[in-house]
Amino acid sequence: MSDESANAGPMSTAPAGVVIEGLHKSFGEVEVLKGIDMSVEPGQVVCLIGASGSGKSTLLRCVNRLEDPDAGSITVGEFDATHADVNLDAMRQHIGMVFQQFNLFPHLSVLENCTITPRRVLKHSREKAEAEALHQLDLVGLKHLAQRRPAQLSGGQQQRVAIARALTMQPNLMLFDEPTSALDPETVGEVLSIMRDLARAGMTMLVVTHEMGFAREVADRVVFLDQGLVVEEGPAEQVIGAPTQPRTQDFLRRVL
Ligand code: ADP
Ligand code: MG
Repeated sequence: MSDESANAGPMSTAPAGVVIEGLHKSFGEVEVLKGIDMSVEPGQVVCLIGASGSGKSTLLRCVNRLEDPDAGSITVGEFDATHADVNLDAMRQHIGMVFQQFNLFPHLSVLENCTITPRRVLKHSREKAEAEALHQLDLVGLKHLAQRRPAQLSGGQQQRVAIARALTMQPNLMLFDEPTSALDPETVGEVLSIMRDLARAGMTMLVVTHEMGFAREVADRVVFLDQGLVVEEGPAEQVIGAPTQPRTQDFLRRVL
């Protein structure tokens, strides 16, 4: 939070919004995203819900260009993510992503997992990177495990490390793709609690989740995706509590 100097870009402090317009994406013959329009206001939390295969991960991956859209536009803060000349490295520095599988480096300690990217990408000194990493680990309650290897941690702890690691890059936007789906039930709550804190701190978050309780409590808006299209969106109490579309109703009957 403290030192903004050398790598401060135009987005270095403010939460970034996301605007997606007319997004299409096919894999071969299969059209997975069929014209998605949606947005996340800066500092807001949008939960993306929908059945397996509806295109949620593909949509999320298009936002940081892990997938290349076929058509449409995406802006992330000041970045035109779909422009041919976009500086993807610069853009991705501002976007934290947390996956279902935590993707920690198994051969590195928790602390090293959290310092490797700031050191390599932001060129932070070891001391500076470690201070920031320990600060973020402290916020997720894991500073005391900084010297452990990932395999020595529970799934919930590993996912909290993954979140801390993403936050060491001072992102303006956090993308979560089913962050609790691979966890034992008893550790889901600790990860959701960290995400709730992050939302309260004003982070912009786009969260794919099946945790409807979390969505109802934390999301400013919920977007229901079905077969590559946004079928229903609105405040959580409306989309989850009183959905108007039959496909949303069917989906919720199955997951609630
Ligand atoms: P969700 O996250 O909602 O479960 P995905 O975005 O992962 O959905 O997948 C949507 C559809 O796209 C699925 O039918 C999936 O098989 C297909 N798909 C996703 N990624 C690829 C890929 N890299 N190559 C081919 N098909 C893919
Ligand atoms: Mg998925």
